[in-house]
Amino acid sequence: MSVEQPRIKGWCPGAWRPMPTGDGLLVRIRPPFGQLTRTQMLALCEAAERFGSGLIELTNRANLQLRGVSEAVWRSLMAFLVEHELIDPDPHGERHPPLLLAPDWQAGDATHEVARLLSARRDELPELPGKIGFAIDASGFPLLSDVSADFRLEQSATGALLVRADGHALGTPMASADAAVEQLIRLAHWFVESGGRDAGRMCRHDVPLPSWALATQAPAKARASLALGSLTLEKRAVEKQTQGMLLGLPFGRVAASVLRSALEPESVTSVRVTPWRRLLIIGAPAIPVAGLLHDNRDPRLSMDVCPGAPYCEQASVATLGLAEGVSSLVRGSLHVSGCSKGCARCQAAEVSLVGRSGRYDVVLNGRADSTPDMTGLSESDVIAYLKNRLEF
Ligand code: SF4
Repeated sequence: MSVEQPRIKGWCPGAWRPMPTGDGLLVRIRPPFGQLTRTQMLALCEAAERFGSGLIELTNRANLQLRGVSEAVWRSLMAFLVEHELIDPDPHGERHPPLLLAPDWQAGDATHEVARLLSARRDELPELPGKIGFAIDASGFPLLSDVSADFRLEQSATGALLVRADGHALGTPMASADAAVEQLIRLAHWFVESGGRDAGRMCRHDVPLPSWALATQAPAKARASLALGSLTLEKRAVEKQTQGMLLGLPFGRVAASVLRSALEPESVTSVRVTPWRRLLIIGAPAIPVAGLLHDNRDPRLSMDVCPGAPYCEQASVATLGLAEGVSSLVRGSLHVSGCSKGCARCQAAEVSLVGRSGRYDVVLNGRADSTPDMTGLSESDVIAYLKNRLEF
């Protein structure tokens, strides 16, 4: 049973189509090929502080977003982002579906090659529903199998390039990167022509695949997601190595000042985004950065926390402070939600703390919109309850 009726927004924000939220506009940026140069990332830090709240968020589809942008400064922000090549100067450009690349791609490998070819032909794609995306993950064992995407480019266990529609266990082997790109474009057109717009996502599109997309091969066994810490990228073509550091963002957010300190070493060349609250800082020395996470077991890498007040107008409570306070008090899944809409997690969690009329409700083993087990708690009541629960 729903205890509140929040407003549903049915589209994905961009930079040219920002979303109004409680503290102003939310402006989303898609780094091309999932990468920004050090100079671009420093410019984004400046943009967050000059035009927004100073926070930068990393989404679970590896986009970056600024919050707290007022309508009065939005046009100046757009000019700044265009000047630093952080967004496409053509507003139509961001309507193209996003390409999510396995973040350890290397120049010239299969992931990079297919992404390059598909980007060059993006105008041939049809207009697709806002949530549709492509995962380009073809450099070996897949990394993105659990990440939301609709059309996937992977490798099979025998090393063949495979195009796979989400929701199908098998994919179609392809003879070359060019053929794979052709197939991805054709599948996107088939999706639209066969009524996929109504389903919204490929996994919900309950129509048999066409005969030219015969699915015969399984992708190679998936890899575990990249662990925090030092990472070596082998540059196969020239037999060189590049070092990078994977650093975690608590709840998927970072203050621009903290990110800037991670970019300080002159050896840093670029930053890659991931869908796992981790940034890969290429060229960074293997030393910790204050304010970023280094321990893979840190609960702040997995807790689901929406921005809450003052960042969202539908929230009557703050979420981030409470989430920090309770991060060590729950062993299983924990969801902190500013209201019953539950934007940060749609499935059930062991514990959900849900804001309502300035207080918190507690839902055990349910969703943010499930009937609460306890209602009207203060922040200290919630902490005392969870401490008590942990002890027994
Ligand atoms: S769940 Fe959080 S982000 Fe979503 S509408 Fe409610 S308060 Fe806002």
